[in-house]
Amino acid sequence: MERLQKVIAHAGVTSRRKAEDYIVAGRVSVNGKTVTELGTKVPEKATIEVDGIPIQREVPVFYLLYKPKKVISAVQDDKNRAVVTDYIDEPEARIYPIGRLDYDTSGLLLLTNDGDFANVMMHPRGNIKKTYIAKVKGKPSKDTLQRLSRGIELEDGKTAPAKVSFKSGNKKNDTSIIELVISEGRNHQIKRMLETVGHPVLKLKRERYAFLALDGLNPGDFRALKPVEVARLR
Ligand code: URA
Repeated sequence: MERLQKVIAHAGVTSRRKAEDYIVAGRVSVNGKTVTELGTKVPEKATIEVDGIPIQREVPVFYLLYKPKKVISAVQDDKNRAVVTDYIDEPEARIYPIGRLDYDTSGLLLLTNDGDFANVMMHPRGNIKKTYIAKVKGKPSKDTLQRLSRGIELEDGKTAPAKVSFKSGNKKNDTSIIELVISEGRNHQIKRMLETVGHPVLKLKRERYAFLALDGLNPGDFRALKPVEVARLR
């Protein structure tokens, strides 16, 4: 049996914290009876309603996908382009991506049907480190790399300190490979940071998410996360 607020959060209705508020406010019922006590354990088969609407319970699932380029980080696309859930062979679960990678960015993306887990992963307090490999135009100077690592002023504020390293350069094409480890997850963050310092991104890949890597996977491959990995991420 699981705690009521956890079950509500798992179903993706809201965060665990807000689920607690809903319970205390008398908005939640179990098998037709209003429950206001936090921590109430509920059987697997119980019917739970929030504001009179039954929640959908599912066994939580967690996947790691090597997202290919030219795939949308969503569950559907109005232009009928490929979406990340097309790659997961799990038709029963209502899974969705945890955060987003741009259409033209490849790399490690997690998917789940566990709203509570997704909230924890996306919360800024979690400070989860994401490692990106960027191919950029030109060769950033040492000074530029330091600026990137200290933080760049973007229109939505200064970026948090990052770990930035120069990996290699290609004189002939005038391009470089840069590794950046950031813990924020703003829209197009890496591209905007590099554009701001005059080195536009030509190619971008997310290689790591926390301690997880793409080991042994090819673009389009996925695997289930191991329970110990899920526990370590939470
Ligand atoms: N930063 C970007 O600019 N794009 C991504 O897809 C991820 C991080």
